[in-house]
Amino acid sequence: MPGKYTYGPVPSRRLGFSLGIDIVPMKTCSYNCIYCQLGTTTNNTIERKEYTPRDRILQEVKDTVKQSGHIDYLTFSGSGEPTLHAGLGYLITELKKITPIPIAVLTNGSLLFESSVQRDLINADVVVPTLCTTSQEIFQEIHRPHASLTIEKIIQGLIDFRKKYRGKIWLEIMLVKGINDSETDIEKLHEVVEKISPDKIHLNTVVRPPSEKRATPLSYRELEKIRNMLGAKPEIIAPFKETREAVHLHDIHQSILNIIERRPVTLDDIAAMTGLHKNEILKYCDQLQKEKKILVTEHDGHHYYEVIGEEIQ
Ligand code: SF4
Repeated sequence: MPGKYTYGPVPSRRLGFSLGIDIVPMKTCSYNCIYCQLGTTTNNTIERKEYTPRDRILQEVKDTVKQSGHIDYLTFSGSGEPTLHAGLGYLITELKKITPIPIAVLTNGSLLFESSVQRDLINADVVVPTLCTTSQEIFQEIHRPHASLTIEKIIQGLIDFRKKYRGKIWLEIMLVKGINDSETDIEKLHEVVEKISPDKIHLNTVVRPPSEKRATPLSYRELEKIRNMLGAKPEIIAPFKETREAVHLHDIHQSILNIIERRPVTLDDIAAMTGLHKNEILKYCDQLQKEKKILVTEHDGHHYYEVIGEEIQ
């Protein structure tokens, strides 16, 4: 059963059945990306600290691993930037002692220039950092980063980390239409990516409801064009082919409605059943409320989502 710091295991495009491990509070991040599906960053910081108690996280992961079926990866990701947690290295080392399941860390890559972060990640099997641009201006526009961060420092951090780290680096390039997708941007990005030399390159675009409406996706055809410009390695991981993205979003919307139709459920219930992040579910539920398909009721101090019956309509 999923708990406070874990969610899943859920099927993931890159990591098979992945058990998510969420180690920073919502939404603690060094960025405030316009495409973030979790909403606006409420704690924009670069401070590394024990945001959540490391031993409680460890115990919960151990328990969940014992109770769960097959898991392909233990994946640090979730409500913010996982490298902000000062216990990340400890958690990876301790998890390695109790399970052979490979460990992945999904990171925005903004703190890889820090030697403490490099050390913490050294025993992970896969690190998946994001890089969108080489331009400071575009970097600011897309990520709205903590004031101390520059794209130059971040790129150098990625290059330095690659030299020390023996695990796999799967570099995610997140593309936002009209902002970082020009030929000039991609050519400059290509040069930098060659220096970083990741094991894989994943091309992604805005496929979940974004924090800002102006963050819109590229089409599959546009992603294909960029893939061709970046050489042999890139894979398009955005979950659509041409118009399939709209279908994908519709499927999630419908799945949540199907769950609520069966019985009144809390946000935690829906998260446990779908493996989706709570903030993402909230967006779909808001939409369903606007469409007057569901309502929220309170019972015994808990909020429940229910379908709106005929007598209410
Ligand atoms: S997308 Fe990731 S890096 Fe960007 S604000 Fe959201 S949690 Fe932070």
